[in-house]
Amino acid sequence: MPRVLVVGGGIAGDTVALMLGRAGWEVTVAEIAPALRGGGQAVDLRGDCREVVARLGLLDEVLGSLLDQRGAAWVDSSGRRLAAMPVEAFDGNGYVSKEELLRSDLARVLHEAAGAHVTHLFGETVEALEDVPNGVSVRFRHAPPAEFDLVIGADGAHSRVRRLRFGPEEVFRRPLGLAHAWFTMDETPATPSVDGWFITHNAPGSRSVEARPGHPGQQEIGFTFAASGLPPRHDREAQFALLDRVFADVGWRTRELLAAARHAPDFALDTFDQIQVPSWSDGRVVLLGDSAWCASPLSGLGTALALRGAAELADALAAADALRLPHRLSDALTAYEAAMRPRVDDAQRLFPGRVRQAAPRTELGIHVVAWLIRCIQRPPLAKTFSRLAAGHGQSAAA
Ligand SMILES: Cc1cc2nc3c(=O)[nH]c(=O)nc-3n(C[C@H](O)[C@H](O)[C@H](O)COP(=O)(O)OP(=O)(O)OC[C@H]3O[C@@H](n4cnc5c(N)ncnc54)[C@H](O)[C@@H]3O)c2cc1C
Repeated sequence: MPRVLVVGGGIAGDTVALMLGRAGWEVTVAEIAPALRGGGQAVDLRGDCREVVARLGLLDEVLGSLLDQRGAAWVDSSGRRLAAMPVEAFDGNGYVSKEELLRSDLARVLHEAAGAHVTHLFGETVEALEDVPNGVSVRFRHAPPAEFDLVIGADGAHSRVRRLRFGPEEVFRRPLGLAHAWFTMDETPATPSVDGWFITHNAPGSRSVEARPGHPGQQEIGFTFAASGLPPRHDREAQFALLDRVFADVGWRTRELLAAARHAPDFALDTFDQIQVPSWSDGRVVLLGDSAWCASPLSGLGTALALRGAAELADALAAADALRLPHRLSDALTAYEAAMRPRVDDAQRLFPGRVRQAAPRTELGIHVVAWLIRCIQRPPLAKTFSRLAAGHGQSAAA
């Protein structure tokens, strides 16, 4: 039976593992975290995401985890509303929709479904990949070396598989000039309610603070700011110090939220980047999801692309009958790339002004963004934006 190694047990990794496991491949998933990774904010179930989840037979379970959301609102430093976009805007294709769930809930559903068909190795990663006749020899960090017919690098934007096989991250990374910190905050009796709204406060200097609904009793918090480099990922104190410095004079709930960051078990900080790799496969090693094509959270399409990519890869392997005829793997990998490239190119083409809109530079810019958000929801622009949002797959406000 052909053996496949999936590196990274995130959305893309567990989805492709589930599909290949069900199709009869012997699948191992090596995930570097010690357990399934929680954390992350809301992901959008519309479009590709819904279609693939339904095809996997997991739609009911996923629909059971939807967040209770009412819309997006932009507020000034005293909490006064500057603009709002309810979930009903643009025929339900607005900035926030009724069909969103936490990334951690989607990851859990996929992981549990994959569990029956797949061997998961947690706290594990690859140290070396070496071509051998008819396979790839893999040296793991802990497990004994093993050979696989196919290695799938689904290990996210900072992919190790990509580095080992295709080259250093700098070659493929296109920074968008912003960084983002996100975490889950437990509410206390003193915590202001978000009441189902995804609330953003923009401050001059390209700084943005967000609070949005999470599981009952929790809020999902985000800080966005201009940055080209960040402290090392393991240096939490330096990361908190940077946030404290950048957001020191920002109003609204910023002080409370900066304090909460220090107690969050799932705190994360990263730059907004795109990843562009000219070819996603090399021999029997193939990239999938953010490792191949991260479009950045600003696209709003990371999860949809991960799910669609996993389905396209599994379909291409099935169409080439690569399970019985492993020598046809390369045909399958070519077909997978041909199917995904146009979608990825489209997703990476962010709406003009998207980066500036996420974190406006000046007070005037903040008010222009709020004004635009109000304007595009009124006739005659509302109709045009409804059509655009429905067609492009990115939210109307993006
Ligand atoms: C904890 C978390 C929170 C996120 N939150 C958001 C969010 O709020 N908004 C948003 O737009 N996007 C978020 N993302 C990114 C989003 O999940 C992806 O853009 C999208 O779902 C594509 O998924 P992916 O499987 O390609 O990558 P990811 O979801 O990033 O999954 C990659 C997986 O690979 C694992 N991994 C990394 N390095 C290695 C290694 N060397 N060896 C083995 N395993 C490795 C990671 O631990 C992770 O489980 C988050 C990702 C993670 C991991």
